[in-house]
Amino acid sequence: MSQDAPIPPRPETLAAQALGRVSEPFRDVVPPLHLSTTFERAGDGTYPGGRIYSRDASPAYDQAEELLATLEGGDSALLFASGMAAATAVFQALEPGQRVLAPRNMYWALRKWLLGFAEQWKLDLAFYENADLTALEAALAVGEPKLLWIETPANPTWELTDIEAAATLAHRRGAVVAVDATILTPVHARPLDFGADIVMHAATKYLNGHSDLVAGALVARKDAPLWPRIRVHRALGGAVLGPFEAWLLLRGMRTLFPRVRTASASALQLAQHLEKHPAIARVLYPGLPSHPQYVLAQRQFRGGFGAMLSVRLRGGEEAARKVAAALRVFKRATSLGSVESLVEHRASVEGPGTFCPADLLRLSIGIEHVDDLIGDFEQALAILGT
Ligand code: PLP
Repeated sequence: MSQDAPIPPRPETLAAQALGRVSEPFRDVVPPLHLSTTFERAGDGTYPGGRIYSRDASPAYDQAEELLATLEGGDSALLFASGMAAATAVFQALEPGQRVLAPRNMYWALRKWLLGFAEQWKLDLAFYENADLTALEAALAVGEPKLLWIETPANPTWELTDIEAAATLAHRRGAVVAVDATILTPVHARPLDFGADIVMHAATKYLNGHSDLVAGALVARKDAPLWPRIRVHRALGGAVLGPFEAWLLLRGMRTLFPRVRTASASALQLAQHLEKHPAIARVLYPGLPSHPQYVLAQRQFRGGFGAMLSVRLRGGEEAARKVAAALRVFKRATSLGSVESLVEHRASVEGPGTFCPADLLRLSIGIEHVDDLIGDFEQALAILGT
């Protein structure tokens, strides 16, 4: 009689139990903290523990990297000292002069860094409109594109790029596809399943989820182009994470699913509520039928539409700043992806040259009671007297 094969644990279970590991000799359910930077060599010159020096490969990263690779459906993950360190490692794996395509709307600090790096490295850098596949195809037809960078949904106006369609176009032209999936999170989508080669996370945000560490991560399949170079770049370039930060990150990832699902459900409710408010001109959120790419959003996301949204005020910049100042539950602070809700007048944070409209407030929704978030906006918008 054939026995049923055991059902492999679901991602929620793997995350909650940090892959279900217990460590010897005490059978710790919570992983120990590995602080050693160096590892003993045997008399015959070998390294029986398999490690040499923690900058190359620290055991403090193992469990977090394996969990993230599993959640993203990849074979390998690398932690970095920040999201920026992870993202820039991909571009630094390129040869000088290679052609790179990046979205017009992307995380502003990465765009700023990329403009400078492209000049220095003589990269042939071209920007495409995030939502325009025809423009992307035309940009890919020029020269020999080596890397397509995607950010979806894109900060802070939440346009989407169809990863599957873009990856097909890019692969036809021989380009590697890397996706900043910080906002998507593996709860809502796995870019590797859509054909991407490399996934990037500002782990500072949802993966950790508590606004108490800065970290980054990359995930790839075994044979992903650029990956061997990226690995060497981390080991020799040294943008590595501290062991305690890696430990905290793993702890944060254990609650990833309930945190992100709660925050996404609240974001949808708040977006629907705010869309009806007379003081608000537009709510930018992929989960609303008014989002120009709502049909794609339904394909790109599963189990919610993320916990980031933006609102544009009818009263312009002055109204936006007044509302931000009047909010009490939302904290006025940069960043996103944590348990507490944050509001930000994004144009003033990005400064001169920003593409962000001045009447826009960016909201990162946390896990507070949604009625407190809705009530907070009601009382703040009331000061505009509309
Ligand atoms: N990508 C996105 C979408 C981000 O929002 C951020 C930071 O806000 C980054 C990358 C950079 O991450 P970090 O601040 O950890 O360097």
